[in-house]
Amino acid sequence: MSECLFCRIGKGEIPAKIVHQDDRIVAFEDINPQAPTHTLLITRKHIPTLSDATEEDRDLLGHLMLVAAGLAKQKGIDSSGYRVVANCREGAGQSVFHVHLHLLGGRVFRWPPG
Ligand code: AMP
Ligand code: ZN
Repeated sequence: MSECLFCRIGKGEIPAKIVHQDDRIVAFEDINPQAPTHTLLITRKHIPTLSDATEEDRDLLGHLMLVAAGLAKQKGIDSSGYRVVANCREGAGQSVFHVHLHLLGGRVFRWPPG
């Protein structure tokens, strides 16, 4: 999947403002932020949508969530509150078909989302 944007960011082929990386995941700032904090967390493994994840991805996705929570603390949005979003397929607003979490914070979010 060398043509996948997030695979390429994960490999360092496309620049991004990286805030965390390890052997399994990478986190970087969203290019079009929707909140004062808007960080994306991607798996290094190419998984097109959350619906394509399988049992073998359980630890990987758990790790992704825990790093999101850790970054929220690091960025000082933990006590005020933050939102973690995974858009799955077009109808939910997914535009990059490589599994990722949005970590959003620094403002108040309404519910239900638009
Ligand atoms: P989604 O719409 O849930 O698939 O989220 C994709 C996100 O990727 C959007 O919030 C975009 O702003 C963001 N995005 C697209 N291209 C880049 C890029 N080159 N670097 C950082 N974020 C990007
Ligand atoms: Zn990919």
